[in-house]
Amino acid sequence: MENCIFCKIAEKKIPSTTVYEDDELLAFKDINPHAPVHLLVIPKKHYSTLQDAAAAPDLLGKMLALAPRLAEEFGCSVSYDADGAPTRGYKALINSGPDGGQEVYHLHLHVVGGPQPWRGKR
Ligand code: 5GP
Ligand code: ZN
Repeated sequence: MENCIFCKIAEKKIPSTTVYEDDELLAFKDINPHAPVHLLVIPKKHYSTLQDAAAAPDLLGKMLALAPRLAEEFGCSVSYDADGAPTRGYKALINSGPDGGQEVYHLHLHVVGGPQPWRGKR
């Protein structure tokens, strides 16, 4: 897809800090992090929005399944204290379309971790 910044990142034409890569997916650090951990998971194939990827549930499942793996690696996974109460954690979200706050029109999953980093933000 011409002029798509995330296609260019997937093609390594624009640099990014890669944290995961396989045949279908790439994950890299967000250039403007909202939290100590702020990663983006993208498919290498261009889909503009979640709406456009609805017919690719296997791909969406792989993207979502990568979030807890990355959270574990970056120290923000959900764990349980001695009483069994959940601790730590992260957000995994996909902004979709203008009303969903999407700015880059190449499907991406945000993985945002830290002590409730979204408080006071959008
Ligand atoms: P959206 O609002 O579309 O869900 O989020 C787009 C995200 O992409 C933003 O958090 C923004 O900081 C990030 N972003 C935009 N351009 C670049 C870039 O060139 N490199 C990286 N690593 N992140 C980018
Ligand atoms: Zn693209």
